[in-house]
Amino acid sequence: MAVGNHLSIVNATKFYKKFKAVDDVNLTVDKGEFLTILGPSGSGKTSLLKLIAGFEELSSGSILLNQQDITKKKAYEREIGMLFQNYALFPHMTVFENVAYPLHLRKVPKSEIAHKVKEILKLVHLEDYGSRYPKQLSGGQQQRVALARAIVFNPPLLLLDEPLGALDKNLRQQMQLEIKHIQETVGITTISVTHDQEEALTMSDRICVMNHGRIEQVDSPTNLYQHPKNRFVAEFIGEINLIPIQYVTVENQKAIVKILQDQMATVVVQGWEKEKKVTSLLLALRPENLQVAGEQAEFENTIHAQVYETIYVGEAIKAKAKTMTGQVITVKIPATQADTVYCGKELLLGWNSKDATLIPEEVSA
Ligand code: ADP
Ligand code: MG
Repeated sequence: MAVGNHLSIVNATKFYKKFKAVDDVNLTVDKGEFLTILGPSGSGKTSLLKLIAGFEELSSGSILLNQQDITKKKAYEREIGMLFQNYALFPHMTVFENVAYPLHLRKVPKSEIAHKVKEILKLVHLEDYGSRYPKQLSGGQQQRVALARAIVFNPPLLLLDEPLGALDKNLRQQMQLEIKHIQETVGITTISVTHDQEEALTMSDRICVMNHGRIEQVDSPTNLYQHPKNRFVAEFIGEINLIPIQYVTVENQKAIVKILQDQMATVVVQGWEKEKKVTSLLLALRPENLQVAGEQAEFENTIHAQVYETIYVGEAIKAKAKTMTGQVITVKIPATQADTVYCGKELLLGWNSKDATLIPEEVSA
């Protein structure tokens, strides 16, 4: 019955010598939530996770778990469950013994251990594998044993650091869903670290995007994808067209913008004043939100562009097209309509005002 935030990270900063790896991070995670920290390599994800786990000391700031300040607590005192890429099962122990290990450490009675281990192995669909050794299991199965071992002692928090990094794509996707289902069943608050956008979108209740040790945006997967706050987030998650705009007026929750010298477009905006003074904004438009329009434009907004390259991606064709002003536009067209696009073809591309978003032009340093 926790009220409020389960985990609070307050003004957390971490220096390695003079290098600031984590820069004034503020983040709260709710009980039962699955939060993913997403960012490029070197953005400070693992460092932040280590601070939470207690493997590294904060240079400044504090961390609260269940309203208790754990900043000065040692890693083993925090009782946090962890799963990393090199999950290191004990090779000389059976699956059962591996999973039982954290309970032995905590001096749980034997009969209770047997019961708990059985229960958790069932949860990860390995109830018949208790007597096997790790080397007799597939990569995915080993990972599930490691997950079972990480949560068998009911930790208040589960930390995952690129746990699926070593698996191939199909198995990764399968394991993403499996871990997500197990997490939901147990209801354990989870923080996962990845550089894989798809993984973050698939598994998370919320995603925290990091860059250069700082948080760029914390949001639900859909909000993050549809309404990135800035250029870094927009470009890091999926593909996006960014079109400079020349001016803006606002009417009835819609911005009316001028793009490509003489073209007007509308964008749904919320909470904007009537006349917002904006000098450097970009119109952000996902390739799949653009459609090939017929002669009678059924869209609020359209632009003309000529196709100069097509890329087959299986379920769709990605076409690169150029407007009269030289602006490159990427559009994703379902494979079923592929014959409507080819090099040299003039396209009328349409989209509606709710399908685009406006973001600041500058990239944060
Ligand atoms: P990520 O997990 O996002 O790839 P890390 O948190 O591992 O990033 O690293 C962030 C930055 O901090 C990197 O530039 C890395 O080289 C540096 N770094 C990480 N750990 C140490 C350390 N123990 N000593 C010095 N620099 C470190
Ligand atoms: Mg890392």
